[in-house]
Amino acid sequence: MSGSAITPWVIGNWKMNPVQAEAQQLVSEFKTLLEQQAIDAAQCHLGVAPVAIALGSVQEQLKTAVRPVYTVAQDVSRIAGLGAYTGEVSAELLKDSQIGFVLVGHSERREIFAENVQILNAKIQNALAAGLTVIYCVGESLQQRESGQAEQVVLQQICDIAAVVEAEQWQNIVIAYEPIWAIGTGKTASPEDAQAMHAKIREGLTQLTSYGPQMAILYGGSVKPENAVELAACPDINGALVGGASLNAASFHQIAQAFANTQ
Ligand code: PEP
Repeated sequence: MSGSAITPWVIGNWKMNPVQAEAQQLVSEFKTLLEQQAIDAAQCHLGVAPVAIALGSVQEQLKTAVRPVYTVAQDVSRIAGLGAYTGEVSAELLKDSQIGFVLVGHSERREIFAENVQILNAKIQNALAAGLTVIYCVGESLQQRESGQAEQVVLQQICDIAAVVEAEQWQNIVIAYEPIWAIGTGKTASPEDAQAMHAKIREGLTQLTSYGPQMAILYGGSVKPENAVELAACPDINGALVGGASLNAASFHQIAQAFANTQ
């Protein structure tokens, strides 16, 4: 086995896309590709994050895939349990529907929906308590990078969650480093810059938890088949959170293949 000892993760974030019929088609095409060109489950974890109303149907469709492909929620309520909270979906309800993974801290949630540290920490606390794995997104803005603050901002975002993550729960956290200026823009961090930030994140995690050395740190921001091989070759890049390219089954499969091939 070459490459990192950490099994990579490739997760597709579909955001507020696509309509049901297209989602079904996308999953169906991806399942066919997995049958034609296998990606060993031991070499890469796979997941897709559809819109909330498609979680059940996508999960059902994925049950007959040739290998596990996890269904990931894009969001979870900051309120735990059940009750009079119109519009909300709690971590317990996700767990009850056999959804084991959730994205928290995506820059679109932080910026567009004004999710601050208190809100994100409540979501993380609830998700972990319910037994979910959290894919926690961090990343700096262009202005923060240009003013030399990128590392400080990202490390602070990592430290922010330490207040609510109990010692053993770190093993249920996957980090996704997503520089905001690279999301949906076609601009990718160079493999050198991404690796440098991932190494810093690894250092920061290792100071916070003994699980730090074995935690997966994914890169996100315009990952596509054309740049996946180079990114996958970086020792501290343990997978990808893929937005736009995950809406194309062949592109998503190629990206997953690039990361699986490092194992
Ligand atoms: C994302 O939203 O998590 C993302 C990385 O998007 P894109 O791949 O489209 O940049």
